[in-house]
Amino acid sequence: MKNSLIVGNWKMYVTSTADAHILATSIRNGVADVPWIEAVICPPALWLSEVAEIVKKGAKTKIGIQNISYETEGAFTGEISPIMAKEMAEYVIIGHSERRAYCGETDVDVNEKVLAALKVGLTPIICVGKKKKDAAPTEPFKQLEEALKNVPKNALKNIVVAYEPIWAIGTSLNADAEYVAKVVTKLRELVHTDTAILYGGSVKVDNALSYAKKREIGGLLIGGASAKANDFIKICKIWSEARDIK
Ligand code: PEP
Repeated sequence: MKNSLIVGNWKMYVTSTADAHILATSIRNGVADVPWIEAVICPPALWLSEVAEIVKKGAKTKIGIQNISYETEGAFTGEISPIMAKEMAEYVIIGHSERRAYCGETDVDVNEKVLAALKVGLTPIICVGKKKKDAAPTEPFKQLEEALKNVPKNALKNIVVAYEPIWAIGTSLNADAEYVAKVVTKLRELVHTDTAILYGGSVKVDNALSYAKKREIGGLLIGGASAKANDFIKICKIWSEARDIK
């Protein structure tokens, strides 16, 4: 069985180098012997090299970056090239709803970033999700179709999709696991059978098991709870135990 991905998006929750150091070290040590999962931590870009240095001492934890530019080099103040990111990270979060909402990222930008990531060998974690709980369920599918424009079929197994209903992000209103499994099954029609499709949206210690029980779901994308080492490690362990195939 393929390992599940448990991705932690630290966003801007961790605001000092010392705290980033403690969080990365605790997670690296806490998940080192947890089978069936791969932990991916996505610190703010400023601390990528620091955190990469810490996690390289343990094979279980990988590094992701929270955003990249679709440009590779040149006069782009404040941007981070995918080439630079690839030196430190294996994964990149693309199309997160916060970047769509606060930074004006469009489906076209998302698509360009996905192509730029794949070109340098970074694995894009493509976020899709509808804004309102009772809205028509078409939005995530359209977003994913747009994100994958011009992505060659043989590259589809090198991407990760995160289904993140926007109403569930940071609200404590996590989506029902049964419903998530159905959406994941439909999203899979657009990708490869081996593409990991994650769920994200207010995942906490007390609801993680409901997602782990749904085999369609390939892992989790966690915001708030990923900035608390004990919670993140507990969620990894809950997932691992539920997926243990022995
Ligand atoms: C996220 O930002 O991708 C996310 C899922 O956040 P939270 O877990 O805090 O809802």
